[in-house]
Amino acid sequence: MPNGIRVIMLGRQGAGKGTQCRRLADHYGVPHISTGEMLRAAVRQDSVVGRAVKAVLDAGKLVDDAMMISLVQGRIGQEDARVAGYLLDGFPRTVAQAESFDEITAARPVTVVVDLVVERDLVLDRLSARRTCENCEANYVSTGNDPNPWTCDSCGGAVRQRADDTPEAINRRLDLYDSQTAPLVDYYRSRNKLVAVDGLGTPDEVFARLQRAVETARNA
Ligand code: AMP
Repeated sequence: MPNGIRVIMLGRQGAGKGTQCRRLADHYGVPHISTGEMLRAAVRQDSVVGRAVKAVLDAGKLVDDAMMISLVQGRIGQEDARVAGYLLDGFPRTVAQAESFDEITAARPVTVVVDLVVERDLVLDRLSARRTCENCEANYVSTGNDPNPWTCDSCGGAVRQRADDTPEAINRRLDLYDSQTAPLVDYYRSRNKLVAVDGLGTPDEVFARLQRAVETARNA
């Protein structure tokens, strides 16, 4: 793929970013770089980073910008992302992160920034019922009468409620999205990088819209 594609995915928690990013990454042959997933893996491994961020994650607060920027800079510098590009999910989360990221990627800027739009009252229900595979992060919907233990269909991992999918942490994350991350929509719009995509509909419908948005930007 000439020069690859470099995509940033914005959107509220529960808008379907994780699921759609995994699918898009597969389709375009680029790594799906989810900063939340990287941090949760660090917590599970009880690494230095993991120990530093666990309480912040569980409370639904934001990890500090400097740590996030260095984490992402290291990841996009790896061979797979340098060659093929990447799909960034969960970063940037603040204007300060976006500004630093612009500097880091000045030589190879992002192809497009997609805003996957689902309104707040709709994602609340989705997040409360969300169950996630600890291993591959596939998402499932709880029926309230779930198998115990619940085994992931794709990888056999344990499916549980994320530690930060409690009502209190969910509300804090959504508040932070509105105050810290939503301003990125204007930031990227004013730089002609933004495409808004409707996140309502079946996963296939949303995927088709996302694919069109990426193709249009890539051929522009
Ligand atoms: P996510 O899986 O994207 O919902 O991220 C889960 C949690 O990881 C967030 O609630 C934050 O605590 C942390 N996190 C992930 N990405 C970032 C980021 N770019 N900046 C700050 N904190 C982040």
